[in-house]
Amino acid sequence: MAHNWSSARKRRLPPNWRQLRQQVLRRDPTCVLCRVRQSTIADHVRAMTDDHRLEALQGVCDPCHRQKTAREGAAARAAAVQPGRRRPPESHPGLL
Ligand SMILES: [Zn+2]
Repeated sequence: MAHNWSSARKRRLPPNWRQLRQQVLRRDPTCVLCRVRQSTIADHVRAMTDDHRLEALQGVCDPCHRQKTAREGAAARAAAVQPGRRRPPESHPGLL
């Protein structure tokens, strides 16, 4: 495979990320999204940013994080194509 390490997409984590993550999980012991499950992931409030301040991070659980990631991916795809809009197969008879 080619050297496709284009770092644009890859989020750079700071050297103290582990420590930051611990702080986030300590501050948000419960997932901020569902408020039910235990936080296991320090998530960026705004996706695709290099903002690693504590205020820019939130504790989330794994299922919510996966959903959020999937939604962000879906939103990006939806911007390109618009799925889910089904038109009836027959054309309107009164249409001129
Ligand atoms: Zn959750």
